Amino acid sequence: MFGTRLATIVERCGGKAIRVEAPWGQIIEPETIEAALRRSGPVKAVAIVHAETSTGAWQPLESIARLCRNHDTLFIVDAVTSLGGAPVEIDRWGIDVCYSGTQKCLSCPPGLSPFTLSDRALAVIKARRTPCQSWYLDMALIADYWAEGTRAYHHTAPISMLYALREALRLVEEEGLPARFARHQLNSDALIAGLTELGLSPLPPIGHRLPMLTCVSVPSHIPEADVRTNLLSTYGIEIGGGLGPLKGRSGASV
Ligand SMILES: *Cc1c(COP(=O)(O)O)cnc(C)c1O
Repeated sequence: MFGTRLATIVERCGGKAIRVEAPWGQIIEPETIEAALRRSGPVKAVAIVHAETSTGAWQPLESIARLCRNHDTLFIVDAVTSLGGAPVEIDRWGIDVCYSGTQKCLSCPPGLSPFTLSDRALAVIKARRTPCQSWYLDMALIADYWAEGTRAYHHTAPISMLYALREALRLVEEEGLPARFARHQLNSDALIAGLTELGLSPLPPIGHRLPMLTCVSVPSHIPEADVRTNLLSTYGIEIGGGLGPLKGRSGASV
């Protein structure tokens, strides 16, 4: 669902999106992306979701980053659900544009979008001949706002959110990233072991299951909403309902 949203955003911005699709719950294979890159001629950017919240699929990124280099295209990654819960090696893997949210594995209130740009991406932005359609997300203006020395006014920062983020990051630092990643994996393994005992299995295949989010389908004869209501009223556990084509079929536990 969030991959589809990426394509929708591209189209709303007036871009041409070339969709590379996979069945829900599967990752996008690098070969499919490579085939699309070969077919399509010059492509400005490849955009993909690292942790697909609607299916629980864990998308490997390194080989796609290499493809982007070989095809001289920028690599954009949605790391909203992964940041703080699994490694996101932006520079080592070669990601040009990466954004996240504060409200998922950083355990911070919603409201900010941590964001980073590579020098390559910034150079492309600075070389634009027409200003981008969004004032709010004009990265050339925001870069001037961030720049030491200029600090050219662009917007008023949500100061209270920055305090919240600072505290959330302090807690991340206190636990340590390796311990945090291991905690998510341990809890995921325990949850999946229990689900397996019940005869249920997560949607994505082994090896591509997110540690911080498990998406599981209920047997077709059981109404999914009843399972969630019962979990909430009896056990005080709230899980999200399925999204898109999985609506009514599955729930996700984060
Ligand atoms: C949650 C999420 C978003 C959107 O973030 P919201 O601010 O919660 O709407 C985008 N992409 C992914 C992968 C997400 O999980």
